[in-house]
Amino acid sequence: MNEISGIRASSGGRPQFVQLIFVDMNGVPKGMEIPIGRYEEAVEGGIAFDGSSIPGFQGIEDSDLIFKADPSTYAEVPWEGIARVYGYIYKDGKPYKADPRGVLKRALEGLEKEGFKAYIGPEPEFYLFRKNGTWELQVPDGGGYFDLVTLDKARELRREIALYMQAFGLVPEVLHHEVGKAQHEIDFRYDEALKTADNIVSFKYLVKAMAEMRGLYATFMPKPIYGFPGNGMHLHISLWRDGENAFVGEEGLRETALHFIAGILKHAKALAAVTNPTVNSYKRLVPGYEAPVYISWGYRNRSALIRVPAFWGNGARIEYRCPDPSANPYLAFSAILMAGLDGIKRKLEPEAYVETNVYEMSDEERSKAGIETLPGSLGEALEELKKDKVVREALGGAYKNFIAYKEREWEEYVTYLKAKELPLETKKVTEWELERYFHV
Ligand code: GLU
Ligand code: MG
Ligand code: MG
Repeated sequence: MNEISGIRASSGGRPQFVQLIFVDMNGVPKGMEIPIGRYEEAVEGGIAFDGSSIPGFQGIEDSDLIFKADPSTYAEVPWEGIARVYGYIYKDGKPYKADPRGVLKRALEGLEKEGFKAYIGPEPEFYLFRKNGTWELQVPDGGGYFDLVTLDKARELRREIALYMQAFGLVPEVLHHEVGKAQHEIDFRYDEALKTADNIVSFKYLVKAMAEMRGLYATFMPKPIYGFPGNGMHLHISLWRDGENAFVGEEGLRETALHFIAGILKHAKALAAVTNPTVNSYKRLVPGYEAPVYISWGYRNRSALIRVPAFWGNGARIEYRCPDPSANPYLAFSAILMAGLDGIKRKLEPEAYVETNVYEMSDEERSKAGIETLPGSLGEALEELKKDKVVREALGGAYKNFIAYKEREWEEYVTYLKAKELPLETKKVTEWELERYFHV
C-alpha cells in the first residue's frame, strides 16, 4: 500500500483514487488520477484534459478533450491500493476520431450489423532483462522453451503476475518459458474483442510493473536482441453468430472462416502497418525464429501466416501469427476484423495454402503456389497501408493521425541510419530502436 506523507491511497481497503486510462496512438496507456469522489462525474459528464502532448493526438491549437469512464472496466490495482478504469474520449461533445478504443468500438458495431461478434485470445511474449544503465541487455536466465528450472526468479514472477492478473478480470491459462533465454509467455482466456484489447493493455502494464518491483525490466519490443527469437503476439480469432461459432459446422471449417482467412491474406501487407507498427517489428519477421514471413495459410502448419489449429466445435478459430505486442491492440483488432469481414462480404477464396514448411520451399515453388512476402520494413508497410482502402477505413478517423505519426517515425529512423552510415536493410537492432521501443 502506498503511503505518502501519512496520506493513504486507500482507506479501510477502499481506494481513494481512480486512474482514468486511455491509450495513445502507440497503444501505450496514459491517464490522470482523480479522487474517488469525482468518479461519478467521470462516468457521467467526463473529465477534461489537454490532448496536445499525447503521441498521435491533437495539435496544441485545438487540444481540449474529455475522458468518459466506462464503468464496466472498473478494477482495483491491488498493489497500489487505488482503482483504475478505461473509457472513451470525446471532443466537442462527439466521440473523438483518433481515440483507439472508440475506433474499435465503431468497427465492432459494423461487424455486429453483419450479424457477427468477434472473440480474440492473445499469446503475448516478453523478455525479462537486467540493465546496467546501458543498452547492453543482460540476460538473467539461461532457460529455453518450456524449461521449468531456470537460473533466476522468473518462475515466481510469472506466477505472481498470473495471480494479479485475476484482479483485473484476466483469466491466465498457460504460463511458460519461451524459446529465447529470458523470454516468457503468459496466455490468457479469450474474450470479446474490446475486452481482450483492454486486457492486453492491463497485462503489459502489470508485467512491467511487477518486473520493476523485482529489479528486472520487461520488454515487449518485437526484437530486442539480434539473433534471439522475437516477441510475437499471435491472435486466436473466431466470429460468432446467434450464439454459435460461425467458423465451424459439422463438416469442419465453414465458408465464413475460409472467406475470413482470404480477407486477411488479401490485406496482409497493409495490415502489417497496424499489427507490426514499429521499425523494430520488421526485425522479427525474418526466417529462422518461428515468425511469419510469407503470406500463406494452412492447417496446424506453424510456418504459415495463418494457422487453423486442430480444434473444432466452439473452440474453432484461426491463429494469426503476424501481430506483435508493440501493436496498439484496439487499432490492430479493428484492422484485422475489417479485413476478414471484407473477405466474407466479397466471398473471397483463400489462396496460398501450404501443407509443408514454407521456409523450405524455393522461391520458384512459392511463387508457383501464389505465396507472397510480407513487407520488409515499416516504410514498405506504410506504403501498402496507403493503397488499401479497407484497412484505411478500418482505422476510421484515426487513420490520418496514425499515418502522419508513423511516417515521421520511419523518417527519423532513416535519418538515424544515414547518420550512422548504415544500410536501409539493416537487420541488426539499433540503439535508436532500443531507446524508442524498449518500453512499448
Ligand atoms: N516467438 C515467435 C514469434 O516471434 C513465436 C513462437 C511460438 O510459436 O510461440 O512469433
Ligand atoms: Mg509463444
Ligand atoms: Mg501460437
